[in-house]
Amino acid sequence: MLIRSLSVPLTAIRGIGSALVPKLARLGIRNTTGLLCHYPRDWEDRSVQVPIREFRHRQVCTNVTVVARDWIGYGRMRTLKVYVEDESGKASLLCFNRPWLEKQLVAGGHFRLWGRFYYKYGEIQSSNFVIEETGDRGPGTGDQILPVYPLTAGLTQAMLRRFVNFALEQYAANLDDELPGKIIARDGLLPKKAAIRAIHFPASVAELELAKKTLIFEELFYLEIMVGKRALERKRKVRSEKGEVRRGRSLADYHQSIDSNHIFDDNPQSLFPTPHSSLLTPHLPCSPLQNRLIERLPFSLTPGQTEAIVEIIADMATGPSFSMARLLQGDVGSGKTLVAFLAALRAVNDGGQAALMAPTELLARQHAENAALLLEPLGLQIAFLTGNIKAAGRKDLLRHLAAGEVDIVVGTHALFSKDVTYKNLRLVVVDEQHRFGVTQRSLIMAKGANPHLLMMSATPIPRTLALTVFGDMDVSVIRDMPPGRKPVKTHLAKESSEDRVYDFIRKKLEAGSQAYFVYPLIDGGDSGDTSNIKDAASMAERLAAEVFPRFSVALIHSKLNEEEKRTTMERFRRGEIQVLVATSVVEVGVDVPNANCMVIEHAERFGLSALHQLRGRVGRGQEQAFCFLVYSDELTDDGKSRLKVMLENTDGFVIAEEDLKLRGPGQIAGTEQSGYLNLGIANPIRDIEELARARTDAFFILENDPGLVLDDHRIVARVLDEAPPFSEVVF
Ligand code: ADP
Ligand code: MG
Repeated sequence: MLIRSLSVPLTAIRGIGSALVPKLARLGIRNTTGLLCHYPRDWEDRSVQVPIREFRHRQVCTNVTVVARDWIGYGRMRTLKVYVEDESGKASLLCFNRPWLEKQLVAGGHFRLWGRFYYKYGEIQSSNFVIEETGDRGPGTGDQILPVYPLTAGLTQAMLRRFVNFALEQYAANLDDELPGKIIARDGLLPKKAAIRAIHFPASVAELELAKKTLIFEELFYLEIMVGKRALERKRKVRSEKGEVRRGRSLADYHQSIDSNHIFDDNPQSLFPTPHSSLLTPHLPCSPLQNRLIERLPFSLTPGQTEAIVEIIADMATGPSFSMARLLQGDVGSGKTLVAFLAALRAVNDGGQAALMAPTELLARQHAENAALLLEPLGLQIAFLTGNIKAAGRKDLLRHLAAGEVDIVVGTHALFSKDVTYKNLRLVVVDEQHRFGVTQRSLIMAKGANPHLLMMSATPIPRTLALTVFGDMDVSVIRDMPPGRKPVKTHLAKESSEDRVYDFIRKKLEAGSQAYFVYPLIDGGDSGDTSNIKDAASMAERLAAEVFPRFSVALIHSKLNEEEKRTTMERFRRGEIQVLVATSVVEVGVDVPNANCMVIEHAERFGLSALHQLRGRVGRGQEQAFCFLVYSDELTDDGKSRLKVMLENTDGFVIAEEDLKLRGPGQIAGTEQSGYLNLGIANPIRDIEELARARTDAFFILENDPGLVLDDHRIVARVLDEAPPFSEVVF
């Protein structure tokens, strides 16, 4: 029996009456499977007594008496505080969000207490503790390791322990292993039935660790089986059409071979020999439309752009049954848009439509304008679609799209709203991919019959995502910049010497340049404790009135309506505005070559990646560009060393690495998306090494035994068939 095939209702468990069913449902427990898979959030090791006095070294585990109670805070923040003592000392318990403790913890009562404590305001405190009547701890009375479950009102630890224990007695013995036997043997993992039993009631700490290892690996293995199936399905189509195996460079290949947190290393070419010898010759296997665009360009493609487009053409040339899934990575300013346009031309040449999605309306509009400039002369119909298009115009536009009269549509996520239909969507380009949630991928793909997908990003994909949600994608990298780009000269400046920065900018403006001034807040009302933070709105006034009275100063931020944003950007582009005061709305994509000064005030309040993106807005023309990072006079040494990273580096990938080192892997942009994976016990960030191994195993099995017919693999086929751990691929 597979654990997910146990469709036994909860009421079959002794002690669970119909009144408890909705309470259990609140914890996500809907049947016996859910109960057995309701893994503890922690374990209470009662095999060792630890009195309160020893709280610094270990988790406390002791018998206490309630000596007093108190209430702290007001209104909704009102919280019960309970003082307890054992023979070694006193401690206080903060009962946040556990209203039921009020009735339970009465003065004079005796309890069993377990938890982590810290020293605060002269007290030994905890808000992360387990407490229960002595004698009522559910199954087991001896000194043992007990599960600590996530709870909800009306359920106690003791109740859940009893229910789980009963379910284990009743059903655990019949559980089948879901991992191939060879893997279980190789890694010395537990059989499924033992793992499930031990994750709830382990006999020892060692057994608990092994149970965790087993269940985590099993979960990640099936995650990678799902990812791998999708990748191989695409590759197999190529194979059967071309009669050969194409050497796919998956994103995860990079990670596995360079063991880095990001997909970029110093010399990846040595790992992956350039697949196309045509690279060195100017001859590209282009379609007629593509050739016409390239001929019209005032510059030639960079080698990186060329390589990327060659790879894309190879993908798109494989016929209607294969769809490309490719990530295009290239630093800010490396020219990804042009590659996207060339890809779009290929789709149109094949009789299809292309959609280009950008994260903001501003950026989408800029792409649409560029597309109109470059592609309309080739006879293409370009359309622009966002959520702000008025009803009448929108209706017409949708009709043209559905009729196939629009070749390329550029827009925001509105491109994939319910009422939008395409005649023949062949290519979807997602710009600044990291700005979108991962779940949108399936939504997008549903708009066409297997359209090609090109995702573009200047921000490296964290390794966790590369192995999971993007784990089936191929990758192209643009490593070079268009020629003639001078590196932006970056300076750090204290807030108290900002006048010198202003003087410098004034001289540049007099010489005909334009400048961005960026602030962390829109206006002073944004937040309470920010009275001494400069904001864009008041600074726009001050810069206009006092600092640059002879120049035209304008303000742009996300609260303006799209029409205002558009006119302002347009006037800035035309040079009618010399100083653009902004928030991070200019962070992505904006391209105005004559604007070559960037001043970022309160720079310490921005993430390094955001600073890199902002700095990437300048240095796009022939003139030397400047970026000033103005920081608060009280900046800590840590803060300064963060900003120094910006002085010393121009490469976005290095900056992202540094950012990661300084912030720790828990906060990598995009990894919060791994929540979409719906995992039960594994955490792809914490368990990254396990994830990589699970991937190797899963891909090896799928590649060597695609039909899953070998004895040892039949269980995988059965799990996928009968009770897949993920109801569908969720990304
Ligand atoms: P990103 O990769 O950041 O999206 P863009 O596509 O916005 O970069 O390109 C940045 C600028 O470089 C644009 O102004 C574009 O016209 C220009 N550009 C693109 N490719 C080349 C090239 N091969 N040579 C010179 N300039 C180029
Ligand atoms: Mg771009």
